[in-house]
Amino acid sequence: MRQLEERILEDGKVLPGGVLKVGSFLNHCIDTELLRAMAAEIAALYKDTEVTKIITIEASGIALAVATGMAMGVPVVFAKKHRTTNVDGTVHMTIVHSFTHNEDYHVVVSSDCISDQDKILIIDDFLANGSALRGLVDLVGQSGAEVVGVAVAVEKCFQSGGDEFRAKGIRVDALASIESMTDDGRIRFRS
Ligand code: 5GP
Repeated sequence: MRQLEERILEDGKVLPGGVLKVGSFLNHCIDTELLRAMAAEIAALYKDTEVTKIITIEASGIALAVATGMAMGVPVVFAKKHRTTNVDGTVHMTIVHSFTHNEDYHVVVSSDCISDQDKILIIDDFLANGSALRGLVDLVGQSGAEVVGVAVAVEKCFQSGGDEFRAKGIRVDALASIESMTDDGRIRFRS
């Protein structure tokens, strides 16, 4: 999506360790016009599927997930992060390693939120090594629902998550696919 790529080149900041900072437009300050356009793009990509629900993980995936849910007319569930295992049997739970904080979290979703009849679109802001989305695929699997696909704003193709899901036959869509980033700030997109 050209609009997102241009914004990344204009306002994104490359941090050491392969992290792209997008807090000025995507996940701290949010450019709502760009958000609306990204949501419309994902809705168009999935218009011929029968998605019944969107799932994301708190916190930075929520804005794009909700905007896409509104564009597609479907509800949105966000999985919550917990530091303890103190949960009862009414939730599905998995463990996710945070790329940006280098910590493990328990991630839970109430079993009331997803049913085995649901067809789920998983959304997040970034796809890097895939731990966050692997956790969401696991939660959806526990509920018996079907994963229709995974859609992210930015895939960092030089990290392994996207290829791992595609190899498993999971549909992956990224609005901007970054081929490479250098510490001096040069970003190259996959065409
Ligand atoms: P993964 O689990 O795929 O390794 O990382 C995805 C999660 O880490 C996303 O939920 C996102 O919040 C965060 N993340 C990964 N890479 C980046 C990045 O380059 N920039 C930002 N802002 N967040 C990232």
